[in-house]
Amino acid sequence: MNESERVMAARRSGMVRDLRHKGIIDERVLEAIGSVERHRFVDEESRDYAYEDAAWPIGYGQTISQPYTVAYMTSLLLERCAPPAKVLEIGTGSGYQAAVLDAIGYRVYSVERIPELYERAVKLFRALDILVMCRLGDGSLGWEEEAPFEGIMVTAAAPDCPQHLLGQLSPNGCLVIPVGRQDMQQMTVYRRSGDRFEKEMFHHFAFVPLIGREGWN
Ligand code: SAM
Repeated sequence: MNESERVMAARRSGMVRDLRHKGIIDERVLEAIGSVERHRFVDEESRDYAYEDAAWPIGYGQTISQPYTVAYMTSLLLERCAPPAKVLEIGTGSGYQAAVLDAIGYRVYSVERIPELYERAVKLFRALDILVMCRLGDGSLGWEEEAPFEGIMVTAAAPDCPQHLLGQLSPNGCLVIPVGRQDMQQMTVYRRSGDRFEKEMFHHFAFVPLIGREGWN
């Protein structure tokens, strides 16, 4: 490990401590977050701040999710869906959340609608030897050819829960999605049980919009 890698590793440990203080208690989530090099997923200008608990711009009006949000959503999924489940993420963005899901041990599929972000994430996953199956397209419609999924996580704000995503859950599958207004959403979990869906609501967050046929126009 060179000096700069040592500095980043120390900052990463600090971030994990910070998340623990903020209430993230699942050790598997903390371990996964501690193993993913977030500084590789942010833009050059944000590299020095990569381990602060903040969202940073990644271009095209989008952001890498805040570590607390990534840890929170991953904990909700992991409580209900054990690895090595097949999990679909909507909104690849920087690729960071997908890399954390991969580190947890899920088989990860991810959809992004912006071609430049999709291409950058595919290259980065290849460079870091992270196995995430990627697709360019409107993720509000899911990934029909690869369905069903035991878990689905949406990392952009939806006005309502997309019916296509509910339809692509396996019989006991679970969907984690921020639902609400454009400026504020409530983290919502849908659990499928046959043809029925149970819904649970959690904390409020502010995500960039899910844009698509079953998202915002
Ligand atoms: N998971 C990302 C990460 O770790 O960096 C979060 C990125 S950002 C908060 C949300 C992403 O969702 C953006 O990259 C945006 O382009 C993407 N997005 C928005 N609507 C989408 C859609 N209908 N299908 C796929 N991706 C979408």
